[in-house]
Amino acid sequence: MEMTRGSIEPHPHPESTSAILCSTCRNALESGLEDVLEESFYHKCAHHETITAFKGAVAQDCFICTKLWFSIRKEVLAKWNNETDWMPFKCLLQRRPWAAERYGAVYWHIVYMEFDFPQLDLWDLNYRGNVFCLFKNADEKRSSAEESYESSTASASVHELACTWYNVCRKSHKTCNKLGPGKEYTPTRLIDIGSEGDDTWKLCLHPDDIQGFPDYLTLSYRWAKDPAVLLLSSTIDAFRQGAPIANLPKTFRDAMTIARNFSIRYLWIDSLCIIQNSAEDWARESVLMHDVYANSACNIAASASESPEGGLFRNRKAEEVGLGYINVDLPNLGTKSFEIWDQFYIDRLTYGPLTHRGWVFQERVLAPRVLHFSPTQIVWECFEMNKCESFPNWSPHPTEVDYSRGLKTLYEFFNSESKSYHWPPKKRDEEKTMSVGVYDQWTHLVKTYSRCAFTHPEDRLIAMAGIANMFKRHTGDEYLAGLWRSRLVEGLNWIVVNPLARPRERLCAPSWSWAAVDSAVLPQKVNLPRDNDLIEIISAMVEDPVTPAGWRQVRGSIKLQGCMTEATILEGCTQMRLKDDASATPIKLLGFPSRFFVLPDTTDVTFTAGERLHLIPLRSTLRRATGDNEKEASNPYNTMTVIVEGMVLEHVTGEGDIYRRTARFVVDDLNHVNFLGLRAFPPWEGATAYNVVMDEARASVITLV
Ligand SMILES: [Zn+2]
Ligand SMILES: [Zn+2]
Repeated sequence: MEMTRGSIEPHPHPESTSAILCSTCRNALESGLEDVLEESFYHKCAHHETITAFKGAVAQDCFICTKLWFSIRKEVLAKWNNETDWMPFKCLLQRRPWAAERYGAVYWHIVYMEFDFPQLDLWDLNYRGNVFCLFKNADEKRSSAEESYESSTASASVHELACTWYNVCRKSHKTCNKLGPGKEYTPTRLIDIGSEGDDTWKLCLHPDDIQGFPDYLTLSYRWAKDPAVLLLSSTIDAFRQGAPIANLPKTFRDAMTIARNFSIRYLWIDSLCIIQNSAEDWARESVLMHDVYANSACNIAASASESPEGGLFRNRKAEEVGLGYINVDLPNLGTKSFEIWDQFYIDRLTYGPLTHRGWVFQERVLAPRVLHFSPTQIVWECFEMNKCESFPNWSPHPTEVDYSRGLKTLYEFFNSESKSYHWPPKKRDEEKTMSVGVYDQWTHLVKTYSRCAFTHPEDRLIAMAGIANMFKRHTGDEYLAGLWRSRLVEGLNWIVVNPLARPRERLCAPSWSWAAVDSAVLPQKVNLPRDNDLIEIISAMVEDPVTPAGWRQVRGSIKLQGCMTEATILEGCTQMRLKDDASATPIKLLGFPSRFFVLPDTTDVTFTAGERLHLIPLRSTLRRATGDNEKEASNPYNTMTVIVEGMVLEHVTGEGDIYRRTARFVVDDLNHVNFLGLRAFPPWEGATAYNVVMDEARASVITLV
């Protein structure tokens, strides 16, 4: 499934300490670094002017350019095929003397704009990039890695470091202890590894064999094609008697070593704790899996292994662990040496066979602590911290102004301030059950999760259910097939990045849910104060019956008031998309002289001349418009424009006012918004931007299924 989404994979470039720079990166630093070290807080600098030059620098192994490449979505890279599709990066060197960690570090922001529409800069989707941190570590020119690291992640000092991280988190991390295990919980079955020196394990049942609520570890790993050891109705008695540890796959044995180091006696591993040939046991235990992970003391992630035989530990070279460093010749200060890393440093370390596994995603988000065994380092993730061997004490995220959120950034649950995140606070947001900060984290998780692969695509909603439960528990909001009741208007406004065929046999979610498609989606963040909602939700309901075939089909309907318009396609497009990208396709509508962009949810949706469309606007929003072909010549960020986003619907045959979602649309010309049942007026005298609202006289009530 991942393979169909664009041809260029972000490549996990091996870390290396000796940082080669291309001449463009070197020039930018040599000309700007001194100014920002000595004088200014900000210094703008230039980066590659053509995509060819940027690709050349990546091929040359430039330290900065390769990391930048990794941080760009593959759909975007695929889109940058020729110079006209590309706009140069914007670069800014910034000194942050107030930053507590690494006092005096310089941050190098390199950003680009993701164009989802030919000429519109979508505020909440578009700024992407990377931040590099340069830390002047010594006055002397450096020539080799100074730190010494053990030659294997199996060594005692590495294990000691992991124990320290674990103990610090348990003792002093408030968020981890609030979100982590606290309630009294023990899984149905656990693996008992006994005490030091024991060479057998046995399966224990709760509450028969286990008293109280002991700590246990969980394991995230990739299954073997033909697992050698499984819990089956035929093996359960033998496993309860005890079986040799030596017969288990290497990853399981290594996880037992970690458990011993942590002084934890119990482990939970799915293939040994759920009866694999019992549909009944699987049905009962799989829905409890999120509790198992959420209550584990720590989740061990076999991040470098393709199968359970791969084991956790790896040999490595010291220079693969240390940070990069560069020497820069400055005009007056002479040659200076800097340590250098970027905001995706930890993401690259943990990138591997587990990254795009759907079920593993939930395990990683829910477990209060995750200890990754990467090819070169151990990496720690909890609700408060990311650490690794090269950053043993604090997270290497270079600045709070980075361009992505961590998957475990859930402190917003406890941040009462986040409701007034937008200033001035909009009453609309204060009344919502789910705060702006929490909802933004939800959209970030959905975006990342929707890129994951599933052996059974119908698991898409189920494998996210545990995360949804956590959000429900901490916000009190109601979960509706992937969306939230207090944020339904925003929730309906998702975009398919690269459509796939409609999942036919097992339609598992209502058409208005992002879970109804198999492809990656981009959910919109919360509506900003300047945005206008163009629909009103009247009611919403979801039912979740188990079908006779045993899989779950979530049905749901939303009753809403909005301005429904019927339109006829004047000129469609036979070829839906030229490339795998998130660009909208322009179509022409009868009676509507402006451009009309559509993004189909699936490849089954076509737009042919003469066809009738049903359109319902969702919101109007103020955007920065970009210059047409001028690119950088005229500053593209200054002009404001208003766009209207909405859903394309199809009528459900034989039913009254019942519709299904098939696509999303965007209109960027407001001279004709009355076509869509809307009214536009300038909010103040001389304003270039318009206020667009629903024309209530033309609103009607429909039901979406
Ligand atoms: Zn470069
Ligand atoms: Zn923690």
